[in-house]
Amino acid sequence: MAAALPKLWLKPGREKSLRRRHPWVFSGAVERVDGTPDPGASIEIVAAGGEHLGRAAYSPASQIRARVWSFEADERIDAAFFRRRLARAVESRRRLGLLEPQGACRLVFSESDGLPGLIVDRYGDYLVCQLLSAGAEAWRATLVELLEELCRPQGIYERSEGGARHKEGLPSRRGVLAGAEPPREVTVVAGDVRLIVDLANGQKTGAYLDQQRNRERVAAHARGADVLDAFSYTGGFSIACLRGGAKSATLVDSSAEALALAERETAANGVGERCRFVTANVFDELRAVRESGARFDLVVLDPPKFVHSADQVNAGSRGYKDINMLGLGLLRPGGVLATFSCSGHVDAGLFQKIVAGAAVDARRTAQILERLTQPPDHPVATEFPEADYLKGLILRVH
Ligand code: SAH
Repeated sequence: MAAALPKLWLKPGREKSLRRRHPWVFSGAVERVDGTPDPGASIEIVAAGGEHLGRAAYSPASQIRARVWSFEADERIDAAFFRRRLARAVESRRRLGLLEPQGACRLVFSESDGLPGLIVDRYGDYLVCQLLSAGAEAWRATLVELLEELCRPQGIYERSEGGARHKEGLPSRRGVLAGAEPPREVTVVAGDVRLIVDLANGQKTGAYLDQQRNRERVAAHARGADVLDAFSYTGGFSIACLRGGAKSATLVDSSAEALALAERETAANGVGERCRFVTANVFDELRAVRESGARFDLVVLDPPKFVHSADQVNAGSRGYKDINMLGLGLLRPGGVLATFSCSGHVDAGLFQKIVAGAAVDARRTAQILERLTQPPDHPVATEFPEADYLKGLILRVH
């Protein structure tokens, strides 16, 4: 028998979401907690009547007061539990054919892989981890050891940064977790594209792996096109489009570091001479291009997250509408708009309405050719719809 865990008692009637296996317990649902468990410690969640609901990681500093590890009545939260969950996540990527030696993919996607707060991205021989919850933080040594055992990487690097850590009361952390320090730039191969990734200083864990597939889908519309790649980062969409037969690409990003890497990455893919790099705010630059009279056959809009919480939906929607109006206005008749939102709070239905409104105001006629979403290494657990964040539309514009 395992030692009894401290109990978190829910208020009456607040157990419904847990019964549906949603893994979050919000602070407002908590009646009381027995004792003072450490941040990240395992606790038992019980309904007001005492019914066992799950075992969770306690996070006293966070609005999300607990994140459930397991809903099974008798499943212990120990190294063997984490080995099972990690092995299941890795096996799923193997079956998807995503584990080629030089490839890159997301190996672990937090709640969707039953490991709230843990993100692991694989770039060839290196893994990059984000430990974003008190629970993941508490198990860091175990998780790193198990990842070494299961994946045998050259090294594991940590990029635990940003707002999610702060909400959990945790400081940012960056550095080597195990094995070798990664080289300054790691080259990985996605399809026939070479990505140069700066694991230590790049955005997120170094690259936007969630767009790997969508770049190919967009590139299918690029033959002969002059492409405007707005919010380009290191140029993933431009490289795919140029290799797919585009005539030219103009990359716009506010990050000079991203564009410096984009210059090397486009050159490494043999398409550098067809690229132009513009360090600028996309909103300003697209207005300037509009005035200049320059027009394009394919415009890609892949902005950062505009909406971080439910109360930002209106302001964020205006941002999406503005950027889409600007993008639509720069297309030659018959051109293609590929437009994305990675804000989970803006669902696919709302995003389509925003783009439709932008087309009306820009006085352009648009047809949806394709709907895009996140790839299978960023799965959505059915009980956790919050994981469903990336949506895109490919439109023909007259
Ligand atoms: N399309 C990229 C990912 C884009 S991520 C890919 O496929 O890899 C969003 C990018 O927008 C980041 O590179 C960030 O530097 C940039 N960015 C954020 N706000 C911006 C702004 N107002 N103007 C220009 N670039 C911006």
